[in-house]
Formats: sequence, C-alpha cells, structure tokens
Amino acid sequence: MDKRIRSGIVISVFTLLFILAAFMGGRRHRYGWAKEPKGRIAVVTVMAGDAHYKWNRDDEKDRYYFFKILKSACDYIEENVARYGGSVEFVHSGNCDDSRLIINKDFDAELSGEVHDTEAVDEFLNSEEITSERRALLKAQKCRGIIYLFYINAPKGYAYPGTTYMWMQPSDPEDEFSLLYAHMKNEEISAAIVAHEMLHCFGLPDLYAKDPDDGTHLVTKEYVTHLKETDSDDIMFSVYSQRARDRYEITQSFSDTDAYFAGLIRSCDDAERFGLGRPIYFR
Ligand SMILES: [Zn+2]
Repeated sequence: MDKRIRSGIVISVFTLLFILAAFMGGRRHRYGWAKEPKGRIAVVTVMAGDAHYKWNRDDEKDRYYFFKILKSACDYIEENVARYGGSVEFVHSGNCDDSRLIINKDFDAELSGEVHDTEAVDEFLNSEEITSERRALLKAQKCRGIIYLFYINAPKGYAYPGTTYMWMQPSDPEDEFSLLYAHMKNEEISAAIVAHEMLHCFGLPDLYAKDPDDGTHLVTKEYVTHLKETDSDDIMFSVYSQRARDRYEITQSFSDTDAYFAGLIRSCDDAERFGLGRPIYFR
C-alpha cells in the first residue's frame, strides 16, 4: 500500500477515535433538565422497595415522616434561592395532595448496596405508565419538570449515602432522580440530606472532596482543605449537624459558593480566591 495512503488511513482512524472520544465525553456531561433553581418543579416521592428492603405499606407513619422532611428541604431551597433574588417553587406531598406525587413501587433490582441498578430506574421512568403520569402531573400542577426521589427503607447500620444520578452519572432519560435511604450508618435521614441531594440537580457540587477528574474542575483541593480547617457549615460540605434540634431542622448554610454554582450570582470571593470552576450550566 502507498505510504501516503497508509498514513492517511492512520490519521483518519485517529481523527475518528478523537471525535468519538469527544462525543462520549460530551455525553458524560449531559446532565438533567433542571439546570437553574427556578420556576415550579414537582418532586415525586417513590416509596421504593428493592431486592433487600421493603416498606410496610400498611404503616403510613414512614411516608408522613418523609413528607415532613421533604417540606423542610424544599422550603430551605426556596428561601435561600429567594435570598439571592431567584424564584423556585416546589410542589410535593408535603404541600399538595395530588396523588401522583407519590408512587409505591417494588423493584427486583438492587437500589441499595454497593452497586445500584440504575438501569431498572431508567426503565421504570421510561415506562408507558410513568410517561403518561408525568405529562398529566406537569400539566395539572403547571410544573416545568419533575425530580424523582426514590426513598428506600434501609435500616440502621446501612453503609451507603444517598446519590443523585443526573449529577453522578448522566443517564437516559434526562430525569433528575436521587436514591435516598432511611438510614446512613446510625443516622436517620434528615431534611439536610434531602436538600443536599436535591441541590445536586441544580449543578451544585460536593464541597467535601475535590471533584473526580471528569473534566468539570469545579472544586479544588485547597478549597476542600480550607472548608475543613474553618469547620464549614455549608450544606454541600456536610449534612450532619450537632446544632439541629431534630431531623426536620436545617442549620447548615447556603453560601455564596452554593449560589455561584446554582447560577444565582456570577462570581463570589471563594470562587476567585480558590480558583473554583465555572458552574456546569453557566460556562
Ligand atoms: Zn453530595
């Protein structure tokens, strides 16, 4: 084969691989629909059973406990967004009796444990039943989208924290969803945990660890160290508080850094000082 043709083929193959890698990389960063904390948003609670844990559906106290926590988390986000001149309003089982805001669903899949079967969640969210319910709910409640919170009855001693998926691992469809556990180690779920996970939907990163090398470059190691040394009470830094009187009260602060990552302000002192990255939705 002619040398030039051969090197031409090699270059083409490399170009193709490069384009493919860029495409995959772009796909990796395709987050959910929520973007900014604004407008009316529905929050659907899925009382989820999985391969390990189930809810006792006859006992309603668990769900009312969760709705109270959820209301506190939503109020917290609404109030703090308003403090920075924004406006977001959540419709959920704690403030609205639309029966579509709660779903009972038992999965055969693993939604708890080290590996989460998010394919089962995707399949569920893509199902005909959910798709038509979603349309009806959005129309009836005049909302621009839905955040699904899968609430799982993990007992005391359960080892894994809640996870928000469009943040951690973009998937299809672009639904925003979190897996939340009734316990994490010996801690019962709290409003602070729910607020923290919901805030991920709006692009807020964890501040307790430098972000993984996924190209987002949001949080630096220096910033994490600074927050540790100053014993930060930022909601994205720590969800545990000694000061909270109960599981409903959120004593953590929503800082300028959080407002910056949510796109509510264009810059802030810490972002300048610690070289934080541009918010994912405002680049
Ligand atoms: Zn987090």
